[in-house]
Amino acid sequence: FEAKRLRQDVAVFNPSAEAARALHLSLLSDLATAIQQDQLRQFLQPKRCLKTGRITGAEALVRWQHPQRGWLPPGDFVPFAERSGRIRQITDWMLARAVRTLAAWEVEGREPMSIAVNISTLDIQDQTLPARLAALLAEYRVDPGQLQLEVTETGLMSSGTDPIAVLNALKAWGVKLAIDDFGTGQSSLAYLQHLPVDELKIDRSFVQDVNADPRRQALLKSIVGVGQGLGLTVTAEGVENQAELDCIAACGCDLIQGYLLAKPMDLPDFQTWLGRTG
Ligand code: C2E
Ligand code: MG
Ligand code: MG
Ligand code: MG
Repeated sequence: FEAKRLRQDVAVFNPSAEAARALHLSLLSDLATAIQQDQLRQFLQPKRCLKTGRITGAEALVRWQHPQRGWLPPGDFVPFAERSGRIRQITDWMLARAVRTLAAWEVEGREPMSIAVNISTLDIQDQTLPARLAALLAEYRVDPGQLQLEVTETGLMSSGTDPIAVLNALKAWGVKLAIDDFGTGQSSLAYLQHLPVDELKIDRSFVQDVNADPRRQALLKSIVGVGQGLGLTVTAEGVENQAELDCIAACGCDLIQGYLLAKPMDLPDFQTWLGRTG
């Protein structure tokens, strides 16, 4: 397991394992100050409803504007943050940002949209998350139904504690829950029926080139069918071109997200984009 982790790390930073380890150590100490020094950024990527054409919400994705290394994607630091126990600070920062934006949109009289925040396996194991979330929602007086939490299928399955209990505690506050990267984990479709979730996000690996392979299309269509049969909203992740979109629409997907619609943007760009898109 440790060897696998190391390989993943080296794959990110390349040169040698030694240099990679040194880089990780310095990144870790930098991460401690990143939040205090306001170096994290929240990007938003929109989701569109295929039936109505409306933008129903956005997913919040973290970026780190590192003073020396430039823009870092989450893959470069979220795994370290998880291992070093700092993921909770990132999660809290992302949640606060999202809730603040939702509150601002309400004041501005915008049409209600949801914002989805990614939470990690460690957050699910953290019994204080529901209370932290409740405090935040109360502070900003935001409709909890506009906030969504995304947990990966893999994260859920590998969480030591009973994930269903924590998900139920979060649901009790009225927030929406989504299963992220669905189809990449080891869980069975049957497990889905026990999860108190609202949305199923089908991983990009099922979406990519779906138009070019009838078997892939059959798979996508059946996942959509099962998800909708369980009363869930089904979203296709990572839609990049029109051919994929046509196929996804034919499969009956509810929502799409991906570069075809828009890349993740900072808040000002997202709002400009919304204004242009309608
Ligand atoms: P995810 O939650 O599945 O997010 C979707 C990822 O796919 C994002 O990468 C997004 O930029 C990318 N993407 C969106 N549309 C397309 C497309 O059409 N084509 C392709 N090739 N990619 C697309 P990003 O921002 O690098 O995030 C990667 C992962 O990092 C996320 O996957 C999520 O698991 C994690 N992550 C991001 N932000 C956070 C956070 O605040 N907290 C935690 N715990 N994890 C986060
Ligand atoms: Mg996500
Ligand atoms: Mg995903
Ligand atoms: Mg992913």
